[in-house]
Amino acid sequence: MKTRNLRSICGMLIMALLVSFTAAAQGKPTIYILATGGTIAGQGATNIAAGYKAGVITVDQLVNAVPGLDQVATIKAEQVANIGSQDMNDEVWLKLAKRVNELLKQPDVDGIVITHGTDTQEETAYFLNLTVKSDKPVVLVGSMRPSTAISADGPRNIYTAVACAADKESKGRGVMVVMDDKILGADDLTKTNTIYVETFQNPNYGPLGIMYNGKPVYSRTTLKRHTYNSEFDVTNLTALPRVEIVLSYSNATDLFIHSAVNAGAKGIVTAGVGNGNVTTLMQNAMAEAVKKGVAVVRSSRIMTGPAAQWDEIDDDKYGFTASWFINPYRARVLLMLALTKTNDYKEIQRMFVEY
Ligand code: ASP
Repeated sequence: MKTRNLRSICGMLIMALLVSFTAAAQGKPTIYILATGGTIAGQGATNIAAGYKAGVITVDQLVNAVPGLDQVATIKAEQVANIGSQDMNDEVWLKLAKRVNELLKQPDVDGIVITHGTDTQEETAYFLNLTVKSDKPVVLVGSMRPSTAISADGPRNIYTAVACAADKESKGRGVMVVMDDKILGADDLTKTNTIYVETFQNPNYGPLGIMYNGKPVYSRTTLKRHTYNSEFDVTNLTALPRVEIVLSYSNATDLFIHSAVNAGAKGIVTAGVGNGNVTTLMQNAMAEAVKKGVAVVRSSRIMTGPAAQWDEIDDDKYGFTASWFINPYRARVLLMLALTKTNDYKEIQRMFVEY
């Protein structure tokens, strides 16, 4: 009698444990990994070689190289592209933004991680920050070392990126990049070093937080508009307006401003000196460009601080827009999207203050 009771108690306990394990498994968030290529999917000739080929490893190989990932989330993976991000382009951006929006509309998808090369990661992150229509987490991740290197940073970065995207605390914070245990906001993101693993920074505002023991610890939130609160919509777009970046430096001529206009650019961003200043020759060409209907945004080649309105250049007099804290690469992204709606410099100026 006693043995029978003991058996049935044990049986009930095992059942209860099974049920709770299954519930925990069902309760795991579902994260999609969308792969685009980059060094994180790169392969070197040896495990110490500096040279390598980006975008070789597939998304399944990447995911399999990360121990414990299946404990954090149910992973689904898709290969969107497999390129070095120096070749990132409008076509892939539109495809990516549309796919992210489609996936995040599904109630059973909790977040997205995008593997990406680091060279243009700041541009893609900002593009998605302005075009994803959801408060669910979207996290970009890359690596500075190829997957074949000693101490490859990719697997750890993927683990932390998925853990960040899977955490409820990460909702509504805009598109983020998680690398080297830092959580960075897309609105102030830049690559600061060509080889270091800690290359990404939010140089004006500081990181949003850190990843600690596989959990996000946030210390700030952005006041800028993004994702679910953005006015930009790519649903019906098949192309983006052409915008070029022109650098200023001592003795810079008007050559590249004229070239951009003649090539049919709808917008020009200048990477000016100091507070977004340019040579007088360039400034005159920029004023002519505005008269021809080309939108001109003044940004700065300096990594921190604003290219502010009403400093040494009277923007209202020429119809220029000042980029404030948005660097030339992100300014180009915002101007491309702004031009899908307007080319009025005051309206564009409003956007450069709000995003
Ligand atoms: N060229 C590579 C890329 O951007 C570099 C990297 O991923 O770090 O795809």
